[in-house]
Amino acid sequence: MYVGMNDEITGLDYKLVKFSEKDFDTLMCTKFPEIFQDRRKPMSQTCMCWGFSVGSGWYPLLFKLCSQLQAIYRLTGIVVIADQVKEKFGGLRFYHHIDSLNLKIDNAEVEIWISVIDDLFSKAEEDSYRICGSCGKYMRHKQIRIGGWVYDQCRTCLTKNRSEMKKEIDKVFKERKDRKNTNQYIDVILENKKCSDEDFRHNLKVLFGIEYPEFDSGDEE
Ligand SMILES: [Zn+2]
Repeated sequence: MYVGMNDEITGLDYKLVKFSEKDFDTLMCTKFPEIFQDRRKPMSQTCMCWGFSVGSGWYPLLFKLCSQLQAIYRLTGIVVIADQVKEKFGGLRFYHHIDSLNLKIDNAEVEIWISVIDDLFSKAEEDSYRICGSCGKYMRHKQIRIGGWVYDQCRTCLTKNRSEMKKEIDKVFKERKDRKNTNQYIDVILENKKCSDEDFRHNLKVLFGIEYPEFDSGDEE
């Protein structure tokens, strides 16, 4: 299975990354009916009605997490029910609640299992910051931030989609009344595939006076 530290994606992981949003949705709801039991409920009751609002690069990560949660459910009767699955500030958010009505274990053990479940969520959310939301590959570099926007994609994927990126950067430079530098900025990011984080940050600072913040997953949630 995917461990988040390999450049190469193989087998099931590779297939999942290629899944369409609709096929992945169907797979998850079929394979993990307990976790996604609210998927078809109206938006007045759950945000899960929006489906999986993440790039396909994270599909293997979600599949792995849900397989683990399902194994715990079968063993203990503790059900994790998804409330919302989305990307925010470049990281995975998997909001959920727990149903422990039909327990197979005694109450004393529940607390231990709940902490195991919490750890699984933390690990998956942490891993998401290093997995490209588009191609699913492990990212050696820190995430790209442009203005207030954090990208969940690797530099290769981002630069492939130059026009989308240009829009965001244009916004930043518009505020700075310095739009002519957009293309040069993108080139620095392109070149950066070969340089260290320190060099990348230094280049941006020197060329554009832009602070490229240190990677930090600790946002308000
Ligand atoms: Zn990528």
